[in-house]
Amino acid sequence: MSLERLWAGWRSAYVAGTVAGPSDDAPSVGAPTDDPHPDDPAVCVFCRIAASGPPSPDNGVLWVGPTTLVVLNAYPYASGHLMAVPRRHVATLGDLTEDEAVELWAAARTGIAALEGAYRPEGINLGANLGEAAGAGIPRHLHLHAVPRWRGDTNFMTAVADTRVLPETLASSWERLTAAWPAGGAG
Ligand SMILES: [Zn+2]
Repeated sequence: MSLERLWAGWRSAYVAGTVAGPSDDAPSVGAPTDDPHPDDPAVCVFCRIAASGPPSPDNGVLWVGPTTLVVLNAYPYASGHLMAVPRRHVATLGDLTEDEAVELWAAARTGIAALEGAYRPEGINLGANLGEAAGAGIPRHLHLHAVPRWRGDTNFMTAVADTRVLPETLASSWERLTAAWPAGGAG
């Protein structure tokens, strides 16, 4: 599977469910993909997540720091799929302050350490879609994806039907990753 194919599956609707709480639902084919108010932080999915309170299975947030949070993708490519997100509504790497940039990277590293501890993946995709042309579902609010991978994890359902069969619920993913979260947070 190419990275292009992998990242292209993510749209704003795939993370919108995080605000409402974890769901067992598989991603729905043909779900709405457009953020109707992409410039308005009041309706931005990631801004709503940032305002949703401390980490809990209900909001899917795994960790919150001074400038950054780590949250489960409500419609994961694979179980454990998480995202490191600046709490501030910024679109580009260049928009980040130095402190935000440092903490975002630290949060991605810590999230990956938790993924490794919880899932023992054979590999991890870490990446970002910068801009709509690159496939970003929410191009106005920067976010880094981390997805655990295993050899042969591309099955015919993913390749043909754009459907993912996930072996655990988001609440289970939250419990596993929280249990594996390195002591000391994202530092
Ligand atoms: Zn935002």
